[in-house]
Amino acid sequence: MIVAVATTNPGKLRELAALLGPRLELRPAPPEYRPVEERGGSYLENARLKARALHQLVRGPALADDSGLEVDALGGRPGVESARYGDSAEERNRRLLDELRGRRGAERRARFRTALVLVLGGGREAHGEGACEGRIAEAPYGGGGFGYDPIFLVPDLGRTFAELSSEEKNRRSARSLAARALLAEIDRELGRRG
Ligand code: IMP
Repeated sequence: MIVAVATTNPGKLRELAALLGPRLELRPAPPEYRPVEERGGSYLENARLKARALHQLVRGPALADDSGLEVDALGGRPGVESARYGDSAEERNRRLLDELRGRRGAERRARFRTALVLVLGGGREAHGEGACEGRIAEAPYGGGGFGYDPIFLVPDLGRTFAELSSEEKNRRSARSLAARALLAEIDRELGRRG
């Protein structure tokens, strides 16, 4: 099934293609796609808003991902506000590190959450959600991945997502769990017609 993806982030598209192919053949959104305002109260609602908007544009299967980082010591912030926590990824990471200055060990606990929604039209829709536990590192490390990856530490590996290969990140990320759940729901609810 050929599916348009509601993102302008090449890192996200690359990960989703690795996680959902070859079942879903992902294509970037057309140039006229404009990101919709994420005004939903949850990752799932935001992903649904983006997927529906793209579906109306392409008139075919459309997929959207919405993700966020929740830091326990900050009461779950930035959460659904993760994309707006600063003007650039570096600024957002710096802000979080500043806010956690002086916090140690378990006080730096955090998790990524991802929701995926696939809109097929005719009221048919599938979704998947995933979460990945970790900690906020003391400083940014690594050059891979994107977004918050340099400060998201996987405790059992002692490395940040940005220090992992894409295969390693894809084995444990919130996005990979959401992708698995999405594919299972496609099989269960919609059959193998795609
Ligand atoms: P959105 O889902 O595109 O709204 O992303 C929310 C924020 O989380 C943005 O700042 C992204 O850069 C960041 N983000 C989303 N997915 C990941 C990821 O897998 N690793 C690190 N940051 C991410």
